[in-house]
Amino acid sequence: MSTPRPLIAGNWKMNGVEASLDEARAVAAAVDSHPPSARVAICPPSTLIHRLADALAGSGVEVGGQDCRAEASGAFTGDVAAEMLADAGAGLVILGHSERRAGYGETDAVVAAKVEAALRAGLEPIVCVGETLAEREAGDTLAVVTGQVRGSLPAALAGKAFSVAYEPVWAIGTGLTPTLEQIEEVHVAVRAALTEIFGEDGARVPILYGGSVKPSNAAEILKARDVGGALVGGASLKAADFLGIIQAA
Ligand code: PEP
Repeated sequence: MSTPRPLIAGNWKMNGVEASLDEARAVAAAVDSHPPSARVAICPPSTLIHRLADALAGSGVEVGGQDCRAEASGAFTGDVAAEMLADAGAGLVILGHSERRAGYGETDAVVAAKVEAALRAGLEPIVCVGETLAEREAGDTLAVVTGQVRGSLPAALAGKAFSVAYEPVWAIGTGLTPTLEQIEEVHVAVRAALTEIFGEDGARVPILYGGSVKPSNAAEILKARDVGGALVGGASLKAADFLGIIQAA
């Protein structure tokens, strides 16, 4: 397995309507005219996956989902299966985002089942982990994050393409970012856990940083030890901001 390129993934969360596709088209046009060193993906709401995949077909920008259900089909009103995301044109899926862990009670076991579903559907998972402010203040950051890594990554990931996103919950959408030392400390611990679980392959899994990444801080964060890309929320909604981050990679 060769070392994958860094990944810059935009998480639009529950934002975006038909008109938002223009922002994605602008990102794709810039990426195609000046191919960046990183892979680029946009993860819109499920309603836009099909249209975004059509709009970006043949471009250097990939499309992902933001969550999936573990089951392939059934009586689960309102939910979306991994197979449906793939059918709509997604190639990746964000799983275990803290907004899902906190808002929907997703445990590590639930996240691991969703990761297995993503693999079953041929999707590349981006698995999120991260501590709350209370956990950081209690000195539990490394234990919490490496525990989430061990609990959320099923053995089925061995040999498969996937990434882990370290997203401190207190840094998401707040404008707060950890210091570079704090980011590196966690990424190094995540790397050690990945190597323990997956052996040599674990040394090559991209570990993205997420939490208030913007054009002004992207370059230094992306240069930090064991940072293999970024998961970007708010700053992925506007093409100019997202491109500023992509160009920093
Ligand atoms: C996110 O929700 O994954 C995220 C990183 O959000 P933001 O960049 O807005 O902090």
